[in-house]
Amino acid sequence: MSGTKDNPVDVAVIGAGIIGITAAYFLQDEKKSVVLVDRAGPAEATSAGNAGALAFTDVLPLASPGIMRKAPFWLLDPLGPLSIPPAYALKIAPWLRRFWEASRPAAYAASTRAQVALMRISRNEMTQLVDSAGLAHMVRSDGCLEVYEGAAQWQASLPGWQARQREGIVFRHVERDGIDALQKGLSPRFTHGTFVPEWQNVSDPRDFALALYARVAERGATFQRGLVETVEPEGETVVVRFADGTTLHAKQAIIAAGAWSKPLAEKLGDDVPLETERGYNTTLPPGAFDLKRQIVFGGHGFVVSALSTGIRVGGAVELGGLDLPPNFKRSKAMLDKAKAFLPGLDTTGGQEWMGFRPSMPDSLPVIGRSKVSARIAYAFGHGHLGLTQSAGTGRLVADLLERRMPAIPLEPFRPGRFS
Ligand SMILES: Cc1cc2nc3c(=O)[nH]c(=O)nc-3n(C[C@H](O)[C@H](O)[C@H](O)COP(=O)(O)OP(=O)(O)OC[C@H]3O[C@@H](n4cnc5c(N)ncnc54)[C@H](O)[C@@H]3O)c2cc1C
Repeated sequence: MSGTKDNPVDVAVIGAGIIGITAAYFLQDEKKSVVLVDRAGPAEATSAGNAGALAFTDVLPLASPGIMRKAPFWLLDPLGPLSIPPAYALKIAPWLRRFWEASRPAAYAASTRAQVALMRISRNEMTQLVDSAGLAHMVRSDGCLEVYEGAAQWQASLPGWQARQREGIVFRHVERDGIDALQKGLSPRFTHGTFVPEWQNVSDPRDFALALYARVAERGATFQRGLVETVEPEGETVVVRFADGTTLHAKQAIIAAGAWSKPLAEKLGDDVPLETERGYNTTLPPGAFDLKRQIVFGGHGFVVSALSTGIRVGGAVELGGLDLPPNFKRSKAMLDKAKAFLPGLDTTGGQEWMGFRPSMPDSLPVIGRSKVSARIAYAFGHGHLGLTQSAGTGRLVADLLERRMPAIPLEPFRPGRFS
């Protein structure tokens, strides 16, 4: 039997979200035997319900100059793009202080460079992955359209687009006739838009992750259900200890437990300021609107996505931690706005959802080794971009565990960067 002290598997991957599943795929390319471990089934948490964007062009970190000036206005609306439940306000304060530090110009310039590098490798690796795993039919390349209410709002977006242009991102500004050509049925309040043709979408994020999981399983990975309490080095192996008292031994391990990764890293002595930006959405039946591509209502903090499984309306950031109950008034508020913005939208029959974005203050994930053991690597904290950055992350953790020079410098992503 494998997974014992005498017969350890090559790699235990803790967390079967999109990051863990993709990491498993890359490790199999290295001929490793892999066990995926999760307290639930594959792709049942955050990776199930996101907006499905492969947003490789979204290279500007959220922690950016000027954001702390905008935030108080967003907070004025309790159901607006950003909220902090009073019960969590004190707990989130240290993370917010680091977020503010990360948004200063020099720190922002450094995290932008890191984000650009990670996006480049993520795009390349995802292109190859969907090809080799036979998932190309699940990826659409119809771009996305961001829309603005009036010239002033569009003008205010221009510095961001100029910064993206410097990184080689292709886009096209459009006025009302251009909006209509890209998407019929948008309210006349939207006078300007920006079309990003290279933006891609998966057909449905849960289906995509499960299809990749099926490939990983076909290639020999096993799945072990269980709540992991600790991951520790032990001699020449790593031992994974479950809440029910059982253990799993592996030669190496990856902690990819999304927003729940912090306690596992802490028990290894790595103090990472991981928090969660909770997000909400409603998925309407597929016929709810004839949506041609993803529409971004940037000023309102949400998007509308065309999935094979329906029309998904969602986004928003709620800095509310892992334990408070969801506030689905937020999903309803976005749906009401979506109806005003797309008057033909049929808002009946929707399914509400909340997910936990795993977020670091500098908008960059943690990709690196535990300080106590080179046998344990971290891959979490991808915030708004976990699906987008999954293949790049898979490549990088495979490089780490194979002790190869990583494809990009990992210094900006190291676990101890806030210590
Ligand atoms: C509203 C919303 C929209 C989004 N839209 C996009 C988008 O369009 N594009 C994009 O790229 N990203 C998007 N994201 C972000 C993206 O969904 C996340 O970054 C990504 O899903 C994180 O993947 P993950 O594998 O790290 O975490 P998860 O999918 O949360 O997986 C973590 C897994 O670890 C398991 N786990 C946790 N703790 C333990 C433990 N102790 N023992 C065993 N198992 C454990 C959990 O059960 C879970 O299955 C969005 C997020 C939200 C909320």
